[in-house]
Amino acid sequence: MNFDLSPELAELQATVRKISRERVLPRAREIDSTEEYPQDLFDLFVETGLTGLVVPEEYGGSGAGILGLTIAIEEIAKYSNAAALMLLLTRLPTGPVLIAGTEDQKKKYVTPVATGEQRAAFGLSEPSVGSDVVGMRTRATPDEAGGWVLDGVKCWMSGVAQADWYCVFAKTGPVESRDHSSISAFVVERSWPGVSVGRLDSKMGVKGIDTGELLLDGVHVPAENMIGEVGGFRLAMLGLNSMRPVVAARGIGLAEGALMYAVEYMKERPAFGRTIADFQGMQWKVAELAAELEAARLLTYRAAWLADQGKFGREWVPYLSMAKYYATELAVKASSECLQMLGAAGYMKDHPMELYYRDAKQLTIVEGTSQVQLNLIARGVLDHDLWWD
Ligand SMILES: Cc1cc2nc3c(=O)[nH]c(=O)nc-3n(C[C@H](O)[C@H](O)[C@H](O)COP(=O)(O)OP(=O)(O)OC[C@H]3O[C@@H](n4cnc5c(N)ncnc54)[C@H](O)[C@@H]3O)c2cc1C
Repeated sequence: MNFDLSPELAELQATVRKISRERVLPRAREIDSTEEYPQDLFDLFVETGLTGLVVPEEYGGSGAGILGLTIAIEEIAKYSNAAALMLLLTRLPTGPVLIAGTEDQKKKYVTPVATGEQRAAFGLSEPSVGSDVVGMRTRATPDEAGGWVLDGVKCWMSGVAQADWYCVFAKTGPVESRDHSSISAFVVERSWPGVSVGRLDSKMGVKGIDTGELLLDGVHVPAENMIGEVGGFRLAMLGLNSMRPVVAARGIGLAEGALMYAVEYMKERPAFGRTIADFQGMQWKVAELAAELEAARLLTYRAAWLADQGKFGREWVPYLSMAKYYATELAVKASSECLQMLGAAGYMKDHPMELYYRDAKQLTIVEGTSQVQLNLIARGVLDHDLWWD
């Protein structure tokens, strides 16, 4: 067993840490208040090769894997979860293509994401279903040319407005079917007739990266744009399982950023002839959060390591879901407790605490809520996928 990062990953961490301090930190508040897409930071991520981190070298990336992306996102999320989400979107929609796509699909759609020439988004959720993926209503009906016609509405889609293509899941079987084989995955290009962006959401946090609807109205999709075989529910799950450490990284980065800020503030803030940091009650809060943070990091790094070994099938679900569950719940807890450590100052926009607090809550909802993760972990224990004997 070796807990050290490889020299390459240590160098990546140092580089992204520097970029995050120098370029992301000064922009975080402005991205939140203007709600404008941070194109300058996207350009920075392209220039520094971060958009290609998770993409294998043969498709134009640097092959740093899920662990590389996890480490980079942790650094960025210390200051801006919106910027971290931008980088996460290099993997969420490309994941199913990398896992089950053809060589042509990988070259045509994943390579431009690695180089930053294109952006992509992921369409699973619909207005009437989120957690209950099998209940989706978007239909894919066969057309005369051997392809498919897609009709439906996807919603809450991150990066919907900037995307050049979408990884969309639809029912190739009967819409009422609860059979897992009734769902398939497609690459849908933004420029195709019938594809449009609908309503954009007004959000509590993670502002600047639009979330909204994708409208599919009689969209003709050629047969070669189906990802994998007919029956893509398992592919959706594999894609999401492999993403658990990446979402978790947004949580640990946020918790680290909040705790570091609160500690420095408490050391300066006088009270009762001492500083806030001198009170044991406050020190214990710091210690508890620090211990939980390191536990979350270990879960997250192990999950990333598993995903990079291709271990994101059913038997690995508890380990992957645990990282997402624990790290994102910790982000909510840490942002709340760290805000409290600043008192009134924490409530004001002069400090980043209220921003961390609003951003954190998104993390326990996206890509499978905390309750869904608990269901998955419990199933794994009941089935002895996770057992200690
Ligand atoms: C900012 C943001 C960005 C997003 N980006 C994307 C994106 O890019 N692409 C995409 O496809 N989706 C995206 N989503 C949607 C997200 O994936 C869903 O919100 C999530 O899957 C939950 O679905 P829901 O909101 O419909 O909640 P519901 O499924 O309606 O659940 C409501 C509540 O019930 C609980 N619940 C549901 N089922 C169970 C159960 N079986 N046991 C116990 N509790 C349960 C849930 O945990 C939740 O607390 C985004 C959401 C947000 C907020």
